[in-house]
Amino acid sequence: MNIILLGPPGAGKGTQAKRLEERHGIVQLSTGDMLRAAVASGTPLGREAKAIMDRGELVPDAVIIGMIEDRIGAADCARGFILDGFPRTVAQAEALDAMLAERDLRLDAVIELAVDESALVERIAGRYTCAKCGAGYHDRFLQPRVAGVCDQCGSTEFVRRNDDKAETVRTRFGAYRNQTAPILPYYRARGLLRSVDGMADMDAVSAAIDRELSLSEAVGNRH
Ligand code: ADP
Ligand code: ADP
Ligand code: ZN
Repeated sequence: MNIILLGPPGAGKGTQAKRLEERHGIVQLSTGDMLRAAVASGTPLGREAKAIMDRGELVPDAVIIGMIEDRIGAADCARGFILDGFPRTVAQAEALDAMLAERDLRLDAVIELAVDESALVERIAGRYTCAKCGAGYHDRFLQPRVAGVCDQCGSTEFVRRNDDKAETVRTRFGAYRNQTAPILPYYRARGLLRSVDGMADMDAVSAAIDRELSLSEAVGNRH
């Protein structure tokens, strides 16, 4: 099953992608995580991307499209993939269509996490992850079971993102509205768009996504 998760920064894409990966064995492909890995290892791509990400702007389409192209044909994606944070522009959506067609693959669904911008500031300000395994947490909405210890791997090191600051967040919302939101009609016109209430709690959002996915499977099975 090949899925796109769409929504503004803080909507819950990463959280839900990881849960889908656990439930269905399909691979999360997060362009944000790939870029942060490149920044951390100091590659030329990482050095170029860092300044752009710190400003809250979008990295050039060609860079991102190349990163995804390298991943979707890989063996671990044979059972499917969840695109988290990609596509973010109409040009990326068109490039994705071309690369899927070339490989005889198709999208099963595009899930939009519908959220109020007012809630996102708090979600982003409270976001942190395990430095070792990448598990996501939140100061208020999702604390580890034992304070200061990762539920998944037992690490006591956590990190916050450089771009999760109030000033940068405003630029990122602007990028979402101006450059990313125009891909919603692109997928609506293709009959792929499903909208889920991203303001519900995490478990309710996961359940709603599962419902939408079995719905889109059932529709697919009819032809
Ligand atoms: P995105 O990948 O869309 O930017 P994340 O999945 O990283 O968003 O979620 C942003 C923050 O909000 C994280 O700290 C996460 O734990 C928290 N979060 C995610 N989904 C919900 C939800 N439904 N309700 C409350 N907090 C949430
Ligand atoms: P969030 O989870 O808050 O939506 P991401 O982790 O997906 O943020 O992305 C962080 C940053 O990485 C973005 O602000 C942007 O600079 C860059 N980025 C990630 N994915 C893309 C993409 N598909 N196109 C362009 N830039 C991207
Ligand atoms: Zn961990």
